[in-house]
Amino acid sequence: MDDPKAVILIGPPGSGKTSLAERLSGFPGINLIQTGSLLKKEVDSGSKEGPRIKESIETGKLVPADIVRRVISNALENTHSGIYVFDGFPRDIDQANMFCDLSEKTGLSLAAVIELRLDSEIAKQRLTGRRICAECGKVVNVNLQPAEEVRGLCQACGGHLEQRNDDRPEIIDRRLDDYEKDSVPVREFFRGRCPKRYYVESADMAPELVAKSVLAVLNREIHVLARGF
Ligand SMILES: [Zn+2]
Repeated sequence: MDDPKAVILIGPPGSGKTSLAERLSGFPGINLIQTGSLLKKEVDSGSKEGPRIKESIETGKLVPADIVRRVISNALENTHSGIYVFDGFPRDIDQANMFCDLSEKTGLSLAAVIELRLDSEIAKQRLTGRRICAECGKVVNVNLQPAEEVRGLCQACGGHLEQRNDDRPEIIDRRLDDYEKDSVPVREFFRGRCPKRYYVESADMAPELVAKSVLAVLNREIHVLARGF
């Protein structure tokens, strides 16, 4: 069996990392390690660390390192051959070191790092318009959607569209600044470590085009098509 392979997605809030990861997960053999949803599960499970996690998420801050480490290492516990796409991790240099440590322990090898680039003004516009349906979880952008959704109703199920607390304008500015500050050393770290497997992709395109371009990269690096995908 092939060793498990890691693909890291790096990109500012609003660059569509999560929707990209979800598109990629439609391919057999691709598993997602989504820090955001792992942490949310932790909160929903009533874990004693729940309140600490919830506070960090709602204010758009980094979740304490010990918690991130535990959640990620649990998710990697039964790693087998396949591709693991990391969304939302590593977010700072400490987490980048944590990634290396955990991959050594689990036999993960780094196949590709994909940095999504997006102008911060476009990111802001995307984030301030983002609403999530409280019923079905559908994500829409009221800056780009039909009138019904502008009125706050989900077109798929009629549920109420809500704004994530960390998508409020005052928090968005800080999240984008934090991304710049925290991600520079992470980007340098991986660029230095695996320059040939470091890819920069524009996120200023329709999500399906970003996904197509990233899949082409993955095909090159890990022969996604040769595996029968
Ligand atoms: Zn809905």
